[in-house]
Amino acid sequence: MTKTILFDLTDAEREEFITQMGQPRFRAKQISEWLMRGAPNFSVMKNLPETLRAELDNVAQTLPVRIVKKLESSDGQTTKFLLELNDCEQIECVLMRTSYGNSVCVSSQAGCAMGCKFCASTLLGLKRNLTVNEIFAQILVAQWELRTDNFSSNPIRPNGDANNNDVSHIVIMGTGEPLQNVENVIGFIERANHDMGIGWRRITVSTCGIVPGIEELIKWGRPINLAISLHAPNDELRKKMMPIANKYSIREVMDAAWRFTDLHNRQLMIEYLLAGDKDGNLLNATPECANELAEILRGKNCMVNLIPWNAVAEREFTSPSGNAVHRFQDILIKNGVHARIRRERGNDIGSACGQLRLNNKKD
Ligand code: SF4
Repeated sequence: MTKTILFDLTDAEREEFITQMGQPRFRAKQISEWLMRGAPNFSVMKNLPETLRAELDNVAQTLPVRIVKKLESSDGQTTKFLLELNDCEQIECVLMRTSYGNSVCVSSQAGCAMGCKFCASTLLGLKRNLTVNEIFAQILVAQWELRTDNFSSNPIRPNGDANNNDVSHIVIMGTGEPLQNVENVIGFIERANHDMGIGWRRITVSTCGIVPGIEELIKWGRPINLAISLHAPNDELRKKMMPIANKYSIREVMDAAWRFTDLHNRQLMIEYLLAGDKDGNLLNATPECANELAEILRGKNCMVNLIPWNAVAEREFTSPSGNAVHRFQDILIKNGVHARIRRERGNDIGSACGQLRLNNKKD
C-alpha cells in the first residue's frame, strides 16, 4: 500500500487526514511541528499516543526522503547521507560542521544530465528533477541529525554545543544542476528563508553555467550567493571538461554572472577544479591557465575556490602536485585575484559528489 507522505500535505490536508483517523485536530499541529524538526518516523513523536503512532506507521510516512546510508568523516565534522526518494531514486546530501556554522549541501536533481567529465553524479544520467519538498526535506534530515547528535562522543566538533544545532547555511551544490530545475530551486530557497529563517546571504546556488537560469535568478531578485563552476580559463579547454561549454561560452556565462553579483553587490564564487590528464600532465592547472584565468577575473569582486581533483574511479584524471596547486594560487594572487585552496571535507567518506549514490547502485 502506498503510504501518504504527511510532509507533502498542506496544513488543512493534514488536519483532514488526522481527523479522518478519528483524532482531534490538535494532533495534526503536533505532527506538523515534528515534521518541521525533521522527524524521520512516528516512533520519535513521544507526545502522540502509542496507538496513534503505530496506526500512522501503517498508513503514512513523515518525509519524502529516507536515509539509506549515513557516513561520518573520521574528524567527525562531516556527515554524508544517501537518501532514497519515494520512487526509489537516490540522492546525496552533506552536513558540514564548520567554525562559521552548520552548512548543508543539498541535491536538486536525481542524477544529472550535464555530463561534466570529472563528476560521478552524471555517470548514470539524469533521472528527474526534485520537488521543492524533496529539496527542503534534505535540510530537515540534517537538522534532525544536529539536534540528536551525540556531541560528547566527539569533542573536536567546532559546534559541539547545544546552542549551535541549527542549519545556518545552505549550498545547492549536490547532485544535479540547480538551474535546470530553477523553479523548484527558487521555491525551496524561498521556503528555507521563510520557514527556517535562513538568510539570503547564507544560501549559495552553484551552476555549471546555464545562462538562462542565471537570467531567472536576476529576475527573481533575491540577494543570494552565486557560484560558477568554471574549471577552465578558455572555451577550448572547457569543452573538453564540460559539455555545457558547447552551448554557452565563458564570456556569456561570466557576463550573466557579473550582472547578477553587481545587482546584489555580492562576491562571485568561482569553482575551479585543478586536474591532470590520465598521464599526469597538467590539464587546466598550468601556469598559463592561471594567467589566462587571472585575465578574466582581474579587478572583479570574486573569490576563486581551487579544488585539487578528487579521485573518482570511473574518471581518468589525476591529482596535480601540491606545488602545482600552490603555484596556480600564487599566480592568481599576484594578479590581484582572491584565491583559496578549498579544504576537502570528508574525503574519507567519498566527498566527491555522486560517489555514494554510484557505489550504492553497484552494491
Ligand atoms: S559537476 Fe554538477 S553540473 Fe556537472 S555533471 Fe556533476 S552534478 Fe552535473
